[in-house]
Amino acid sequence: MVSRVIPVDSFDLVIFGGTGDLARRKILPGLFRRFRAGQMPADAQVIGAARSDMDDAAFREMVREAIVEFGGNGTPDPGDLDAFLERVAYQSVDAKGEAGWSELEDKLRDDCVRAFYFSVGPSLFGDLAERLRTFGLATETSRIVVEKPFGNDLESARALNRELAQYFDETQIYRIDHYLGKETVQNLMAVRFGNVLFEPLWNAQFVDHIQITVAETVGVGGRGGYYDHSGAMRDMVQNHLMQLLCLIAMEPPAQFEPDAVRDEKLKVIRALDPVEPHHIVRGQYGADEKQPGYRAHVENERSRTESFVALKAHISNWRWAGTPFYLRTGKMLRARASEIAVVFKDAPHSIFGAEAGRHRNVLAIRLQPNEGMTLDVTIKEPGPGGMRLLDVPLDMSFADALGPDGGEVPDAYERLVMDVIRGNQTLFMRGDEVEAAWAWTDPLIDSWEARGDVPKPYDPGSSGPEDALMLMHRDGRRWRDIKA
Ligand code: NAP
Repeated sequence: MVSRVIPVDSFDLVIFGGTGDLARRKILPGLFRRFRAGQMPADAQVIGAARSDMDDAAFREMVREAIVEFGGNGTPDPGDLDAFLERVAYQSVDAKGEAGWSELEDKLRDDCVRAFYFSVGPSLFGDLAERLRTFGLATETSRIVVEKPFGNDLESARALNRELAQYFDETQIYRIDHYLGKETVQNLMAVRFGNVLFEPLWNAQFVDHIQITVAETVGVGGRGGYYDHSGAMRDMVQNHLMQLLCLIAMEPPAQFEPDAVRDEKLKVIRALDPVEPHHIVRGQYGADEKQPGYRAHVENERSRTESFVALKAHISNWRWAGTPFYLRTGKMLRARASEIAVVFKDAPHSIFGAEAGRHRNVLAIRLQPNEGMTLDVTIKEPGPGGMRLLDVPLDMSFADALGPDGGEVPDAYERLVMDVIRGNQTLFMRGDEVEAAWAWTDPLIDSWEARGDVPKPYDPGSSGPEDALMLMHRDGRRWRDIKA
C-alpha cells in the first residue's frame, strides 16, 4: 500500500541549533525524507542557525554527512541529496547577541509560512523568542517549535510560558513531545475512536489495569550533567508517559482538532490523584563487568537521582475510578521496548472450569521497536483432548499491514515538523497541559528531595529493582516482559 503524501505550503524553516545533535540525528534527516517523499515544495528553505562560523557550503556538507549517517533506509540517492541541499542554507547567529539577526531576516521570504525550531538548550528559548520579535523576523503567523525539557518544575514551566507569551500567541507555540508523533500513538486514537469495538469496553467495568512501559537499554550517555539534575521522573514521566496516559484515558473529543483533543487530555491530568508514596519505586542502575554504573556515568558518587521509576496512578473520574495505571520507565534495562498494554478483566464466568486456567484479552500497543498492535484473544487449543484454551495475538504490525512501503512510515520528528508547517497543533502540548503535568509530579519529587530518598539499585540488563515487581505482585498482577 503506497501512503498518500499531501504536499504542504511553501515554508522557510529556521533551525536554531542546526549544527547540534538533535538537528543532525533527527530533524535534518527527517526533512530529507519528507523531501524525498515529495512533500516539500520546490522553493521551501531550511536554514540552519547557530553561533559557529561557517558558510552555506560547509553547512550543506555537514547536513549531507548527517543524512548519510542517520537518514536510514540505505544510502541516499546522490541526486535527491543534492536537490535537497540546494534548499539548505546557514546563518551564524547568537541567541544571546545581536550579530547575524538582520542577515537572517534578509534570508526570509514574506509570502510563505515561517517556522523557527528552537533546537537549543532551554535557557535560550526566551532569548530567541525576544530577538525574533525585536529584529522583526516573527510575523503574526510565524510558528515557534520548542524542544523538551519545558521547565524543570511547575514554577520554571510557568515562567517559560509567561516569557514566550510576551512574544507569541499560544496558537503560534508548538511544544514538541516526539512520542505524540509516533504513528502508533496516533493509531491509538484511530483504534479507540474509529471503531465501535473497543470504546464500549474502555472503562473501569471491563479494564483490569493499564501498563505503560518505556524501557531503554542505554545509560545516560553523554547527557550525564543534564540527567543527574533531571532523573527519570522529569525526563520521561512528566512528559512522554504522561502524554501516553492521556491518550489512553481521555474521553472522546468532539472533533479531532487541537483544542478539542488537548482539552480532554488536560482533564485527565487534572483528574489524576496524588500518588501514594508506597505506590512509587525509584531505581538507579549499578555497575556490571562491562561498564561502570550510573554514579560513575554522571560523575557523582553521591547521586540520588533515579534512572528508573515505576508507579501506580489512579484517575478519579467515572470512566476510570478503581482502575490502576502502572507506569514504568528506565535506562539500562533488559531490552529497548515501549508499549502500552490494556489488560481487560476476566470473563465474568468461565464455562470451561478451573482447569482451563485464567485467560485475558490484552490490547498491546507497541511503540518501539516495530510499531504495531496486538490483541490477545482466547481460543481453543487445536487438536483432540478436550477444551484447552490458548491466548493468541491478532497481530496488527504496521510493517506487515502496510506492505513494503511500511518502512516509509514517517518518523515522529518528520511528521511533527510537517504538522508545524501545516499549522496543526493537535499533537503538540498546550501550555496548561505542561503546567498541570508538573503540578502532579512536583510534590513527588519534592518529597523525595525533602527526605533524602535513595533510589533502589538494580542490575543493568534487568527489569529494574525488585520493589518494582512487588508493586504489581502486591496487587496480584504482573508486569509484562520487557522484550524487543
Ligand atoms: P547540542 O548538540 O548541544 O546542540 C546545541 C546547538 O545549539 C548547537 O547547534 C549549538 O551550536 C547551538 N547553540 C548553543 N548556544 C547557542 C547560542 N547562544 N546561539 C545560537 N545557537 C547556539 O544539543 P542537542 O542535543 O541538539 O539538543 C538541543 C535541544 O533539544 C535541547 O533543548 C535538548 O534538551 C533537546 N532535545 C535533544 C534531544 C537529542 O536527542 N539530542 C532529544 C530531545 C530533546 P553553536 O555552539 O555553534 O552555537
